[in-house]
Amino acid sequence: MPDPIEGVVQRRQNRRMTDPTAAPLTAADLVALARAARRDPPCPTCVSLVCPGWEAMPASIARDALERVGTLRDPTIEEPTVAEYHPAGTHAWSPEAPIAPRWFPYNRCDVWRCGTCARAFLRYTEYGGYYNEERVREIDANRVVDAPGPA
Ligand SMILES: [Zn+2]
Repeated sequence: MPDPIEGVVQRRQNRRMTDPTAAPLTAADLVALARAARRDPPCPTCVSLVCPGWEAMPASIARDALERVGTLRDPTIEEPTVAEYHPAGTHAWSPEAPIAPRWFPYNRCDVWRCGTCARAFLRYTEYGGYYNEERVREIDANRVVDAPGPA
C-alpha cells in the first residue's frame, strides 16, 4: 500500500520546484496526515500544542519545531468565507467542531506537522481589532469533513 504521507510530501517537493507557495491540501490529505502521526504519548516537542480545539499558539513552542506541509487556502478564492460550519450545533472553540476545509477558519489555515512525531496541526492568524493571535488546533482525523463550501 502506498504511504499517503509520502504522497503528500512528494507533491509538496515537486511543487516547490515550480511554485514557492505551499501545496494545496484536501480533506483527504488531512485525514492521511492525522492518521500517520504517532499518537501516544505526546512527544515533548509538541506536547504544549496538543489540543482538541483551537487555542492560542503557546509562546514557548520553538519556531522550528513544526514544519509546514501545505495549506488549505484556495488560491482561486480571493475572499474566503468567514462563515463557519457547525451542523451539530458546535461553536468555533468546541473540541468537537468539524474540521471543514472550505469553511472559516480552516479555509485560511496552513497545515503543519511536528518534526519529531509527525503529529499534524492547523494554524492560522486571527486578525482582531486590536490584536493578532496565532491559533493552533491538532488535526483529529475523526473531525475532518469534506463539506461543500457555502453557496
Ligand atoms: Zn511531536
